[in-house]
Amino acid sequence: MRIAVLKERAPGEGRVAITPETIKKFAALGAEVAVETGAGVTASIPDEAYREAGAELGSAEQTVKEADILLGVVAPDVALIAGAKAGAMVAAMFDPFRENTRVEAYAKAGLEALAMEFMPRITRAQSMDVLSSQANLAGYKAVIAAADTYDRAFPMMMTAAGTVQAAKAFVMGVGVAGLQAIATARRLGAQVSATDVRSATKEQIQSLGAKPIFVESVEGIEGEGSGGYATEMSEEYQKAQAELVSSHIAKQDIVITTALIPGRAAPRLISDAQIATMKPGSVIFDLAVAQGGNVEGSVADQTIEKHGVKIIGFSNTAGHLAADASALYARNLYNFLSAFWDNEAGKPVLDEEIGDAVRLTQGRKIVNERLTAQ
Ligand code: NAD
Repeated sequence: MRIAVLKERAPGEGRVAITPETIKKFAALGAEVAVETGAGVTASIPDEAYREAGAELGSAEQTVKEADILLGVVAPDVALIAGAKAGAMVAAMFDPFRENTRVEAYAKAGLEALAMEFMPRITRAQSMDVLSSQANLAGYKAVIAAADTYDRAFPMMMTAAGTVQAAKAFVMGVGVAGLQAIATARRLGAQVSATDVRSATKEQIQSLGAKPIFVESVEGIEGEGSGGYATEMSEEYQKAQAELVSSHIAKQDIVITTALIPGRAAPRLISDAQIATMKPGSVIFDLAVAQGGNVEGSVADQTIEKHGVKIIGFSNTAGHLAADASALYARNLYNFLSAFWDNEAGKPVLDEEIGDAVRLTQGRKIVNERLTAQ
């Protein structure tokens, strides 16, 4: 059983899908591991550390040759992994709804594509959940980046020269990233409030010491759909939410937006007119910028200024913490494959619940219901 890991090719991608720690664990299962030279450099893992952990290092071509399993952060181009065994498994992030040409190419090449972002949100898969491990780091980094751009302090400071007021931070979308953003902003000393369409988050917001800001006036709202994800809200709800946000946002110094709806463009939460009501010097971090953006006018990987408000958003926020992000991502992959490791077969044999959820292609066909049902 040969596991191969390439250096990531996507622009600005500093993460890597394996660490010395997980190489040793895979070796204990009886697998041999090959890593492309230089694959870990951007995540602060030198080749030597991989070698010491027992990996074979070489060119991309040598690495993928005869591989049974390929691990990636972003799924590699099919041409790059042509030397892998027929039917090889590729566990990576495929961005399946947007990258359909890539999914088709995997099907055509006879590879078994396993989309890590389709891992079901069930208890036993928590340790395999890359969206959570990466979103948690992203939520932290968003607040740190916003604090760095903000030209005032976060905590209240009483000094001989006078008092500095605490920053007011508002987190919109309280999933994994939002919860960590609340916790981080609180740790830095900001006064934090937060909102979500799922009413279950109210208690979570309070338990972190932040103030929930919720639409109460619209009857029968419950924004929770399948798997605990948000659903798209009614027009009436969206109008009520916009009004509530407008009055609240004008008083905020920092806004972190994290709202996503699986398989759809990110919902627009902040309009240009709302930005105009904010104080000059305020900062907005749009964590959904790569999915179309929660904030009107936000541009990935740029700090833009509108009405005196700075708007930031990274296309790959977790990638800005490449070492920790890689360590957690690599553990997610190991937890996933090892949970299904079949000692007799010497390879992972996925069960129906998780296998059917993550598998995109097999036997030269696209087999995932979320894609074929579209
Ligand atoms: P996500 O990244 O899909 O979305 C971020 C947040 O934005 C969500 O809380 C969502 O409700 C919110 N949102 C969407 N539209 C909005 C709008 N118009 N206004 C305000 N907020 C809006 O979310 P996520 O972090 O992936 O978490 C999704 C769900 O999965 C949550 O219920 C979470 O608790 C659950 N979860 C479960 C597990 C598990 O059991 N294994 C692991 C992680 C997350």
